[in-house]
Amino acid sequence: MSDHPALGTLRAHRVADAWAAFDAVCAGADGLNAFLAVDREATGLDVGPLAGVPVAIKDNLATHELPTTCGSRVLEGYMSPFEATAVRRLRDAGAAILGKTNMDEFAMGSSNENSAFGPVRNPLDRTRVPGGSSGGSAAAVAAGVVRLALGSETGGSVRQPAAFCGIVGVKPTYGRVSRYGLVAYASSLDHVGVFGRTVGDAAAGLQIIAGHDRFDATSAPHAVPEFLPPTVDGASADPRPLAGLVIGRPVEYFPASLDARIAAHCRHALTVLESLGAEIRDVSLPSTDLASPVYYIIAPAEASSNLARYDGVRYGRRAMADDLGAMYERTRSEGFGAEVTRRILLGTYVLSAGYYDAYYRRAQAVRELIRQEFSQVFASGVHLLFTPTAPTPAFRIGEVSDPYEMYLSDIFTVTANLVGIPAMSQPIGRVDGLPIGGQFMAPHFTEPTMLRAAAALERALGAEAHQ
Ligand code: GLN
Repeated sequence: MSDHPALGTLRAHRVADAWAAFDAVCAGADGLNAFLAVDREATGLDVGPLAGVPVAIKDNLATHELPTTCGSRVLEGYMSPFEATAVRRLRDAGAAILGKTNMDEFAMGSSNENSAFGPVRNPLDRTRVPGGSSGGSAAAVAAGVVRLALGSETGGSVRQPAAFCGIVGVKPTYGRVSRYGLVAYASSLDHVGVFGRTVGDAAAGLQIIAGHDRFDATSAPHAVPEFLPPTVDGASADPRPLAGLVIGRPVEYFPASLDARIAAHCRHALTVLESLGAEIRDVSLPSTDLASPVYYIIAPAEASSNLARYDGVRYGRRAMADDLGAMYERTRSEGFGAEVTRRILLGTYVLSAGYYDAYYRRAQAVRELIRQEFSQVFASGVHLLFTPTAPTPAFRIGEVSDPYEMYLSDIFTVTANLVGIPAMSQPIGRVDGLPIGGQFMAPHFTEPTMLRAAAALERALGAEAHQ
């Protein structure tokens, strides 16, 4: 690992560079608002693969020196007594934990506008959102404050902000990275993910945080492979490095209603993948249109249970009241924002007697159907899938006010969380000057194939990825 080619570019960025960029873009009233807390004393270690490399951490991953608020008033100022495994692994590798990044409250959102501490601005256009829910981490990388940041994903919260900010975001296989210390939103869908400017940077970060952890019972016992072999990141002499690879183009992810310019960038990326030796094959995932409705039943259901712990007794904020019931009520009404409240109510409803069978049980059955459709496509000899990451580029702050319309931001990303497969987004071009992401999805535990194809595409697109 210590000779991973991407480590060179990560190591070149020092803490002093990070603060210079931070002071230039994050500070002040018109700053990006990407960070909720910073540690000006952070130095990292003198040794290790990430010795002294500044990194940023989404504020739903527990850290020792800095508060962990999840972008919520209910956890304002909360100090965790333990640290997330992914954070500890970065720290043990020598990284300097520069700060905690802003996010949609409890990771519920697609624009970062649901943070109790104000929206994050997209560094490429400050009138626009950076995406969400890991918007602060994406903005911090896109603005050059850090080259590596951690985010979390329940339905696309790393890939969609990566797409909106013109960077790379990777969600590994469920179980590949420990969730220990990741504040739970919907446990069967939650993942830790990474942001980098390049595929190599993101792969190097993933290399450090991946692997079994006895503190997370769902963490996979699988050995961690080399995510990006050194030869792939260097200038490869092979003009057809993807020969033998079959890349599926799921027709349901390219509906007639898809923005023609986004579709054109995806088509171009597929042509480039073909010229690199891959075979492109049209495939079908017929239940795709059910993924978002299923997600918005299962995720709130799990959230309503996970968020019951914020009762004013065990964690964070407590509102004063005359009796216990009133204390619970006031703590939770004052502590949670509108979207979190909506999800708790929705989740409680779909789990309640009389509605459980009609909604929750049915959603679980459809989730299984979606899983089987992916398995069948992969079993038919398809190694990877390629799709757009999001149906639109970054929208303006305040532009999408209808929650249902906001949920549509995730239509191409929620499936990978429902199925637990690895997926990632990388820049493939621009529309009206705004970045567009292309998404790869891959069978469980095949991140190396996915990252290899992504690195080849990145190299072949070159500057085109940002035009
Ligand atoms: N936008 C989705 C939601 O609001 C996904 C969020 C996430 O991945 N954490 O639930």
